[in-house]
Amino acid sequence: MTRPRTVVIVGGGISGLATAFSLREKATQAGVPLRCTVLESDSAWGGKIVTHRVGDIVTEAGPDSFLSQKQAGLDLCTKLGLADQLINTNETGKKASVLSNGRLHDLPEGLLSFAPKQLGPFFQSGLLSWIGLARMGLEYVVPPGPSRGDESLADFLRRRFGALAFERVLEPLMAGIYAGDAEQMSLRATFPRFFELEQQHGGILRGMMAAKQSAAPNSTGRPRRTMFVSLKNGLGDLVTALTSRLEQQGVELRLGARVDALRVRSHELGRWMYDLILENGSAISAESLVLATPAYVSAELLRPLTPIAGGLLDLIPYASTATIAMAFPRSQTSAIEGFGFIVPRREQRDLIAATWTSLKWPHRAPSDQLLVRCYAGGVGREDILQRENQELVATLREELAGICGITAEPLYTEVNRWWKAMPQYTIGHLDRLVQLEAALSRYPGLVLTGAGYRGVGIPDCIRDGAEAAERVLQSLLGKGHHERERPPDR
Ligand SMILES: Cc1cc2nc3c(=O)[nH]c(=O)nc-3n(C[C@H](O)[C@H](O)[C@H](O)COP(=O)(O)OP(=O)(O)OC[C@H]3O[C@@H](n4cnc5c(N)ncnc54)[C@H](O)[C@@H]3O)c2cc1C
Repeated sequence: MTRPRTVVIVGGGISGLATAFSLREKATQAGVPLRCTVLESDSAWGGKIVTHRVGDIVTEAGPDSFLSQKQAGLDLCTKLGLADQLINTNETGKKASVLSNGRLHDLPEGLLSFAPKQLGPFFQSGLLSWIGLARMGLEYVVPPGPSRGDESLADFLRRRFGALAFERVLEPLMAGIYAGDAEQMSLRATFPRFFELEQQHGGILRGMMAAKQSAAPNSTGRPRRTMFVSLKNGLGDLVTALTSRLEQQGVELRLGARVDALRVRSHELGRWMYDLILENGSAISAESLVLATPAYVSAELLRPLTPIAGGLLDLIPYASTATIAMAFPRSQTSAIEGFGFIVPRREQRDLIAATWTSLKWPHRAPSDQLLVRCYAGGVGREDILQRENQELVATLREELAGICGITAEPLYTEVNRWWKAMPQYTIGHLDRLVQLEAALSRYPGLVLTGAGYRGVGIPDCIRDGAEAAERVLQSLLGKGHHERERPPDR
């Protein structure tokens, strides 16, 4: 019998688990026997995906939904038998607002898909002055920028839509997703579609119109999905389903297994063996290694092998954030409707967004309660995370009271701090990834995946995990790039 090929995946967040899942699938199809181990330092699987269930309340400490347009998330749920658990947002109450000069204004619906389809609703919202509106409409005739080089998200949006639309609407809507600073974010790494639309169609509005005209009606027979979807009882079910399936498939899953160091030694016929040293002093070796850890962890592990890769990974900064869940009596918050609101940077608030979780997702709280999720922190606004829980909650309650009149005493409160959690794709990110690839090219079978590189959203991580799995398989099959140069034994 052929001996099984050995693969270790470090990191049991969605990226590492999705890599293991895809690798099992691909190896079985290719008839490659596999011994795969996933090592996770924490005492639970899922990384940033953490669902809490307290009585009838379901809260998400990290992500609460994922984009349905990116197929990888839906596909994985279907493969894991979770399709009937997928839930749409509650369309009856679909409405989001933005804070402007201390007052909430409705966001026109087209904006929720990240591009203003029509300017009409802006006229009623009072969000932008006539000058701001006119400038936004001129996007249609603004010539495209250069096709080479990188540009900040802020420069791009100001150039195309004008400074007012950027500051008041687009900045919180788009940079908010990354808890980032639009002035530093790379357009091409964070919103590549905008760059493509500009290059291919001359502008965003033109591109959106062309896409609308050529869009085929939904004839796939698949259920209609809202822009964001979730799982009925929380995204933690995705992690549970994934780990159970991996266990059934014979993947070794080890919690509390922190990898502290990495060595490489030559193996047979120009192949390398990767030795991992764990915190408890034990070691594990594999022919192929996937680092699905945050970039700053991978930097430390790789630095002794390739200081260049370590240095490049250090250039991916991470922002710290917090989500704060609060449940209020519905009777005292009956005026609250819609999905919540976002807060532009220019408002200089501690609260950066709030979601009315139980209005957006049914089943997340008893019907006599309003479950609210507040966001704080992000690039340049991280100081607030140093405050004690009580003080942090008090600050956000003051914000909620001032902005939307919620003065009730919360029935339930939960603070989740996420230190160095959101990778920032700053200007030049994609070029640095190319250099990283080059620095790692002499280590076949060593693959990086995770939110730090090619997309932070859950579907991006799942897709990237599948691509990492493909690269591992190709390397085990002796395909893909192979540097014959001998790496230094360590
Ligand atoms: C507050 C918040 C809200 C978000 N909201 C959304 C959302 O609504 N929708 C969406 O699509 N995305 C959202 N995201 C982004 C998304 O959740 C993350 O990008 C994604 O879950 C990251 O997955 P990952 O596996 O790449 O990394 P992680 O989840 O960070 O997993 C990495 C794992 O590696 C482990 N590890 C680290 N060091 C070691 C070591 N030395 N040895 C072994 N293991 C180690 C860690 O413990 C961790 O479990 C949100 C993120 C945050 C923080």
